[in-house]
Amino acid sequence: MKNLISRLFGRNKSIPATEMGMPPEMLKGLISSLEKTKPVELDCADFFALLDEYVDVLLRGEDVNEVMPDVKHHLEMCGECFQEYEILVSAIEAAG
Ligand SMILES: [Zn+2]
Repeated sequence: MKNLISRLFGRNKSIPATEMGMPPEMLKGLISSLEKTKPVELDCADFFALLDEYVDVLLRGEDVNEVMPDVKHHLEMCGECFQEYEILVSAIEAAG
């Protein structure tokens, strides 16, 4: 009898997470929605891929903080890319 009770009790203590109101899919969804709120960190290759577009946005007089904040962030953090950006801008200015 005692054995049976402790077996039942032991079983109750190990209720799987799925029976506790948080199915794994929900947990996964929660984690991925947290990841989406993190700021996007561009690397230099990403930056170069977007540089033309970024300069276009600037030339149109739009607010880069709003349109391409991640690109602007990389520009502020990365000296090499900032140099490339300056070269491109002065080339455009010289041409235009
Ligand atoms: Zn860079």
